[in-house]
Amino acid sequence: MFEGIKNKFIKLFKSSTSGTEIIRRDEVENTIRNILLEADVDYDTAQIITERLDRRIIKSGRKIEMDLVKEYLKETITEILNEIPPALDILNAPKKPYVILFLGINGTGKTTTISKIASYLRKNGKRVVLAAADTFRAGAIEQISALGSDIGVNVIKHTAGSDPSSVAFDAIEHAKARDIDYVLVDSAGRMQTNKNLIDEMRKIKRVAKPDLTVMVLDSMIGQDAYNQAEVFMNEIKFDAVILTKLDTDARGGAVLTIVHQLKKPVLFLGTGQGFDDLIKFDPKWYIGKIIP
Ligand code: GDP
Repeated sequence: MFEGIKNKFIKLFKSSTSGTEIIRRDEVENTIRNILLEADVDYDTAQIITERLDRRIIKSGRKIEMDLVKEYLKETITEILNEIPPALDILNAPKKPYVILFLGINGTGKTTTISKIASYLRKNGKRVVLAAADTFRAGAIEQISALGSDIGVNVIKHTAGSDPSSVAFDAIEHAKARDIDYVLVDSAGRMQTNKNLIDEMRKIKRVAKPDLTVMVLDSMIGQDAYNQAEVFMNEIKFDAVILTKLDTDARGGAVLTIVHQLKKPVLFLGTGQGFDDLIKFDPKWYIGKIIP
């Protein structure tokens, strides 16, 4: 995980003996900016990090050595990651049923993530129903049905091609009638610019009135994840994000770009294909992984 960025930072911070004064501050900062860019952090975010780092170093008035740069870089990235509002604890949902709608392009890991969250909620004693509202993609209804039966939660489904918002509506009615705590609504994810998809999502939002709308993004695609999210943000709006496939993300910069550009809480990170491969986002954990 994040080998690209991690190994470059290890090399950089080892490149100067402890206690040796750094004469060319700008050179070190350029190297850090390049490491960030190569890790697929977007230019704006990389620039802000290096500028803030520079300000910290100057303000300190201390002798500049690599250990200090490392300490200040960690502080700067922590500051960036703490600028987003904290994610709510979904175990403490303020209403019942609590309806969560998941958005995301096909292949990002949306259905897998829904099943991970369903499993997490179940393990914490919550009652859950899934709405198979991706009625478009071939096999999507079967996929979520199989995952639901593995976890032991009901899946409300209609036939392929039917109206997704009516599936969501039925799942919510089902939950209300049975005192179920959570309704997790899957949704279609064909091409982000497809107008029909956007209209479909808007209708689901109108009908299901989700308490939380979550955008699922694939960290492996780096900056493109942000571009995808921007389309959804402009057209549909969402409250929080989940980043998937961190375990296979060698570059590691997507987290920084997404957090800094979207300014949305990160609910969870996906770290594998199993039901338990879901962790809460913690800036300390992330920084520890990229700057060991
Ligand atoms: P959807 O089209 O967005 O619903 O995507 P799926 O849930 O079907 O996932 C697409 C592929 O990504 C599947 O092979 C999943 O097992 C895989 N996947 C999902 N989340 C993760 C993750 O966090 N790590 C890894 N390595 N694979 C994941």
